[in-house]
This record gives sequence, structure tokens and C-alpha cells, in this order.
Amino acid sequence: MKLRNKIHLYTTVLFVVLLVLINTAVYFSFSRMIFTSELEQTEAEAEQIVATLNENQSGVPIRELLLAYSPINGIVQIVMKDAIGPGAASPDHSSLRERSSVTFYSEEVSRIIDYQGTKHALVSVPIIWTNGEVAALQVTESLKAAEQNLNVLQIVLIVVTLIATIPLFISARFLSNLITRPITSMTSTMQDIRESGRFKQLELPEKSKDELYVMGETFNEMITLLQANYEKQEQFVSNASHELKTPLTVIESYSSLLERRGRHDEALFDESVEAIHSEAVRMKNLTQQFLLLAKHEEYWNVDLTEIKLSTFLQESMRAFEKAYKRRVEVSVEEGLNVLADAQKLKQLLYIFMDNARKYSEKEIQVDAFRNEGRAQIHIIDQGIGMSQEDLERVFERFYRVDKARTRKSGGFGLGLALAEELAQVMDAELLLHSEEKTGTKAIIKLPLSQ
Ligand code: ATP
Ligand code: MG
Repeated sequence: MKLRNKIHLYTTVLFVVLLVLINTAVYFSFSRMIFTSELEQTEAEAEQIVATLNENQSGVPIRELLLAYSPINGIVQIVMKDAIGPGAASPDHSSLRERSSVTFYSEEVSRIIDYQGTKHALVSVPIIWTNGEVAALQVTESLKAAEQNLNVLQIVLIVVTLIATIPLFISARFLSNLITRPITSMTSTMQDIRESGRFKQLELPEKSKDELYVMGETFNEMITLLQANYEKQEQFVSNASHELKTPLTVIESYSSLLERRGRHDEALFDESVEAIHSEAVRMKNLTQQFLLLAKHEEYWNVDLTEIKLSTFLQESMRAFEKAYKRRVEVSVEEGLNVLADAQKLKQLLYIFMDNARKYSEKEIQVDAFRNEGRAQIHIIDQGIGMSQEDLERVFERFYRVDKARTRKSGGFGLGLALAEELAQVMDAELLLHSEEKTGTKAIIKLPLSQ
């Protein structure tokens, strides 16, 4: 069964059962109340008659006396142990007159009895008769009127139950629609996505705070995230193939040149081998960067150790100066120790140093000091810098400010993307400040070792 029908059925049945239970309880307590009050009234009448009988000194005939007191729909009788006694009186129309057997009670009795399918209130009070025998004064009264009232009540309650079921049925349908509509629309959107292979958002009618709206909103956020990731992935693959295409084209054209004329032309041979070699190296570097980027954090095998920054920076910068013949000014606060992975920190520094080297010509400055409970390493160059818009995008994979120039300098636009991942696994923070034609400052914030 569909969720919508389930909710509809369950709520309707539940409410109808509740309504029937309530109405039944109302009916039974009401009828009990009515019969009790009728019985009490009959008791009071019986007591009145007994009192009058006791006071009857003037010799009024018993029959007359009883007749004077007999109720409209009932009978007053004196019952002896074996038979109806000397007095029984009732209005002429009372069917109780024809009653064949009457029970004698020696004790006081007051109860509801059934006679000819109608309920009657019977009250029997023992009295001492004139001959000294024990007799019973019985007052029997028909409760037909009360029963009729109760029948009317019964009909009213049944009709009310039936009428109330209609709005109940409608509101239960409305409730089930309200709950299931967003679910249905979500399911159809999901099916649409699956069939068309395109990402789609749910249409959320109006802003509200209910759970269903939150569910729809969460679904949309999830789709946005999936779409962004999917597009990034597509972008990465197309960029990667584009990057590989250039060196492969160079290798292909040089190798066909070699094939045709390489055997006789030594200069061409040298040039081709040189070009093929350099493109192969470039491709190797590129694939190495791809592999690093593709690896998930867990596989990075981080080995955090205490690193003394002064020696660490001095040594790596000496090596850098030698390799690239560039001047690096290092200034490190004494006793500054950080918690990091030495290999990865070196790689991180290299990425920023490599950029500073490529995009500036003057001396590079490296400062390290303690600040706000962390160690900060600043790498400052006085090079070409970049604009605010470029600064926001340089951490994206393959993003390069000037494609032609960076290609000449060997850049893929992957350095900073890799730096971000390296920083993440070491719990480090990266900041980049830059101004066009003035220079760039890269900041690495590292946790101090205790
Ligand atoms: P790769 O590092 O992969 O060899 P790349 O240096 O071009 O290539 P990133 O290090 O990610 O790539 O840098 C992205 C871009 O940001 C660079 O192409 C460059 O345009 C710009 N950039 C980065 N550092 C600097 C800097 N210090 N000064 C000026 N521009 C910079
Ligand atoms: Mg770089």
C-alpha cells in the first residue's frame, strides 16, 4: 500500500474508533444517570406511601389511599407472603394490572426490572400489616419515557458520528497529501536525474521551517555538491589530457622528423633527442603531480615529528640557493620548534620557493616567528605579483595567471593545489597576499610542538 493511503487509512480509522468510544461512554453514563434518578424518585414515593399508611387512623379504605398515591405509569401494591394482598391500585390503563405473578420480598428492594420488554423501577418496602403479618409495599413504575429519550440520544450520537466521519476523511486525505507530496516530487526528481544523467534541483514552494522543507533543502544542497564535484572531476580530466597533449605532439613530430631525416642530419638528431627528452621529463613530472593529487589523505602517511625551524630552514634554503643561483635571506626566531612531517614541509616550502623564484627576479626573503600560538613562515618575493581575482583562483588545479609565460617556465598550475592538500594533512594553514608588480607574500601557519 502507498504511504499516502496508509496515512489516510490509519488516521481515519483511529479517529472513527475514538469517536465511537467517546460516544458509547457518553451514552452509557447518561443512561445510568437517568435510571438511577428514576429509581431514587420511586423510592421517595414508596417512603411517602408507607408514612401515609402508618398515619391512616381515620379509616380511609386502603384501595382509595393507594389509588391516590399511585403513579401515572405504574402500580402500588400491598403484597402478602403468598398472594397479592388487600390493596392494589393503579390507573386503569396500566398494563401492570394484568401482571400474573408478583414476587414477595421480605427485605427492602430497589431495582430495575424488565417487564414486557420495557424497563421498570421496582421498589419494595417491608411493612407490618394490620393482622401483625409482614407484608411488602411495592411501587412499580414504567420507565418507557426515559427509554424513549435514550433512544433519541442513541440516534443523535450515531448520526453525529457518521457526519463527523466526512470531515475526518477529508482532513486525513489532506494530511497524507501534505506529507507525501514532497517525497513524491523528490522521488520523481531522483528518477529524472537517473534517467537523464543531468543534475536537477527540487522546487521548494515556500520557505518554511518544517522537516519536509529541510529535507528538500538538504537534497538540493547535496545535488549542488555532487554537481560541483562532478564538474571539477570533468574539468580535471579535460585539463589533464590537454596538458599531456602538448608534450605528446612535440614528441610525435620530432620522432617522425628523426625517422625521415635523423640518420643523416646530426644537428637535427641532437635537437630532436633534446626536445623529446625534455618533454618526457615534463610528462613524468606532470604524472607524478597527478598521482600525488589523486591519493587520498589516508594514504599520505603523515609522520609528524618535532622540527627545529632555524636549522631546517637554513639548510633547505642553502640547498635552494645553490640549485637555482638565487639569493635567499633567511631570518628565524630562536628556539622555534614545530610539529610537522619533514618531507612534506620541505615539499610545501619548495612549492612556494619555486613560485617566488619563477615569478620574481630579486632576492627572496624567508622569515619565521611565533605568532598567536603558532609558528608562521613568510616567503616574500618582489616579483610580478597578481591581481585579487587571480589570487582567489590560484589554488584551483591547473589555474595559471599567464598560460603562455608559465608554460615556458615549466609550470602546470598544480603547485598551489598540491600545497593546499599538503597543508591539510599537516594541520597547517596557508595564506597568500599579493599585489601586481609589487610582489607576493605566502604565509604558512604551523602548530608549535609542546
Ligand atoms: P607548477 O607549480 O605546477 O609547476 P605553477 O607555478 O604555474 O605550476 P601554481 O604554483 O599552482 O602553478 O601557481 C598558480 C599560478 O599562480 C601561477 O601560474 C602564477 O600565475 C601564479 N603565482 C603563484 N605564485 C606566484 C608568485 N609568487 N608571484 C606571481 N604569481 C604567482
Ligand atoms: Mg608553482
